[in-house]
Amino acid sequence: MILIKTAIEIYHLTARFRAQGKKLGFVPTMGALHDGHMTLISNSLQQNGITICSIFVNPTQFNDPSDFEKYPISIEKDILLLERSGCNILFLPNVLEVYPTGVGSSAQYDLGQLETVLEGQFRPGHFQGVCQVVDRLLQIIQPNRIYLGQKDFQQCLVVQKMMEGHHPSIEMVTVATKRELNGLAMSSRNLRLSEASRQKAGAIFEALMYIKNNWGKKSVKALIDDAGKQIEQAGFDKIDYIAIVRKADLTAITQWEADTSTLVLVAAFIDGVRLIDNLSLS
Ligand code: AMP
Repeated sequence: MILIKTAIEIYHLTARFRAQGKKLGFVPTMGALHDGHMTLISNSLQQNGITICSIFVNPTQFNDPSDFEKYPISIEKDILLLERSGCNILFLPNVLEVYPTGVGSSAQYDLGQLETVLEGQFRPGHFQGVCQVVDRLLQIIQPNRIYLGQKDFQQCLVVQKMMEGHHPSIEMVTVATKRELNGLAMSSRNLRLSEASRQKAGAIFEALMYIKNNWGKKSVKALIDDAGKQIEQAGFDKIDYIAIVRKADLTAITQWEADTSTLVLVAAFIDGVRLIDNLSLS
């Protein structure tokens, strides 16, 4: 695996591979890699000649400074995992390489209501930060495909919208959520949970499955109330939201609709760690 730390080097290296007719798959991450990230890498390896992973803890997408400071870092282990996976290139830039004109001077994006609902409501500015970093990385790397996880479903819609305007020829591939045995969605933030809390945190997936199994049988309000109680009883401190929405635009659904693709999303805190997850209902 080739390790690259500067924008200029990755720009020229990827240009060389493109000139050789190789397809480039790109997996952006913030490191502390786990099997969820690895499924993105293996999807990219199957579909492209060259796979590039980036590790960059992007300061502009953290609305809570303490969340940024506590973000887990395990770069040596990450490099070993990537080496073993067959990933071809790791891009490991510092803040100046990504934001050469300064962190505060980045572009703003028109994301419509996608940036004010759900995660956007509870993490103001978060999706602008996500778009800034992904836009910049795509400009430098110019891949054919970008790989994102369904676990961050709203992020997929936001990046899709940004790419329609800024990178229309890049294809987005969304990869299914990888889970622990108890259903907990794998996440770098799980490293901050005690073993007991990790076990309890499986309640999010159980509540999502409860809603899926009863979808169309109970009212939307009753399903959300029941799921909320299940999550609280499992030991979660706070629920930011449980929402059932149309997949296409994240608008809320108030009653079951036969022919609409729907999704349930949750954000909740356990042990002071904020976890998110979602599940397709139809
Ligand atoms: P992060 O490092 O948390 O920013 O995540 C980098 C990418 O990995 C994002 O596209 C995430 O949606 C994706 N990802 C994170 N957790 C999982 C998971 N459990 N399964 C699949 N993809 C994931």
